[in-house]
Amino acid sequence: MNFISTRGDTPALGFSDAVATGLAPDGGLFLPETLPQFSSDELKALAGLDYPALCTAFFRRFATDIDEATFAAIVAKSYTSFTHPEIAPLVPLADNLQVLELFHGPTLAFKDFALQLLGNLYEHQCAARGQTINVLGATSGDTGAAAIHGLLGKPGTAIFILYPDGRVAPLQERQMTCTGADNVYTMAIEGSFDDAQTALKDIFADQTFRLHHRLSAVNSINLARVLAQCVYYLSAWLRLPTAQQENVEFVVPTGNFGNVLAGWMLQNMGVPIRGFKVATNQNDILYRLFTTGEYKVDQVAPSLAPSMDIQVASNFERFLYFALGRDPSRVREVMTTFKATGEYRFESFDRSTFSASRCSDAEIPGIIKSVYERFGYVADPHTACAFAAPDSDRHSVVLATAHPAKFPDTLRAAIGVDPRHPSLEALKSRPIVKHPVAASADAIRAFIEARAV
Ligand SMILES: *Cc1c(COP(=O)(O)O)cnc(C)c1O
Repeated sequence: MNFISTRGDTPALGFSDAVATGLAPDGGLFLPETLPQFSSDELKALAGLDYPALCTAFFRRFATDIDEATFAAIVAKSYTSFTHPEIAPLVPLADNLQVLELFHGPTLAFKDFALQLLGNLYEHQCAARGQTINVLGATSGDTGAAAIHGLLGKPGTAIFILYPDGRVAPLQERQMTCTGADNVYTMAIEGSFDDAQTALKDIFADQTFRLHHRLSAVNSINLARVLAQCVYYLSAWLRLPTAQQENVEFVVPTGNFGNVLAGWMLQNMGVPIRGFKVATNQNDILYRLFTTGEYKVDQVAPSLAPSMDIQVASNFERFLYFALGRDPSRVREVMTTFKATGEYRFESFDRSTFSASRCSDAEIPGIIKSVYERFGYVADPHTACAFAAPDSDRHSVVLATAHPAKFPDTLRAAIGVDPRHPSLEALKSRPIVKHPVAASADAIRAFIEARAV
């Protein structure tokens, strides 16, 4: 299987190279050249597999340059760090409503599904190519923690994560800074998240430095992340009763559009899912898009569901590629217009399988309370956004993207419950190791230079 860029100006690459490259050199995102199709017989055959076996079987269609036994070992390693035996359990709340819990990984957010796998793929590549790799990223929360835990202590790798000092949630900071691993460097930047990102862009634009240190970016656009996320949709779908399978709508708390895109791609591989609901918080660019056809940036307004505080959804370009008839020249045209003007109006594109909802910040505590009262279920603020506009005519599977214990203040205020999780409690007694660094590309470069593997 080869992978092509949404912008059409990058030669097709195999799986391992596309994963190692991250962003395509033409500025586009990698996608499978064709989406493989799963027949109903093939789907039946997958139904009996446990999560790691299902993941391996799914990736056989894509990771054709890694042999099956090697890939199976990478997958097995990736999901042993999950604490629930089912990895992604489906919890029934009502006859037509279930929750797919995606927070049983090491950092208690759904990003672990992809970043555990990506970390092990990087490790495999380092070993296979006899090279080291230095991973660099900026985070305002969950991605940094999940990326760090994906690479924790892995030989041949170092990970450098920038975050704005004093501006990430205290528990998120602990997840990044209390690991004790000596290949993890957390840089507490004196500035905002935007300052950190600007410095990072400068560093990635410096080709000499980038190549010399074999720098790789950790962000939400890596192809392996999207594919890894397809697997939990497949696993959930296979476990639904037959009558519900074709009537199911997955309700997805959405920021960068990576999670819901994975479900949509799976649907386009022949899995008959009825649809998806894009559930945003008050940062509602995608809600507006799917209800009006207008794609228009606005200011980011910080919310109680911070991992969805995004305006420009980086993974949206992958959906666009398909929506625009797989025509890279049209993708380039839309992206250029959007970049120049901050908006684009779509005359027509097929959004029949998508619905959308949005949830203001003021509504989040009330939703947490009503979900708790009606179902006895404790939802974190991101998951709460997915309960904002329930549908009664279909079977809903709400994706729970974070464990409520990550957001104790919001939960305490909403329902007077103090959710806890042993892994977070353990962090509270460990020392914080962070490196204060100025928000300048030179200071960050010097820091990396001294520590890169
Ligand atoms: C990252 C994240 C989201 C948003 O996911 P996208 O793939 O960016 O749409 C939602 N909830 C939580 C808890 C997250 O960490």
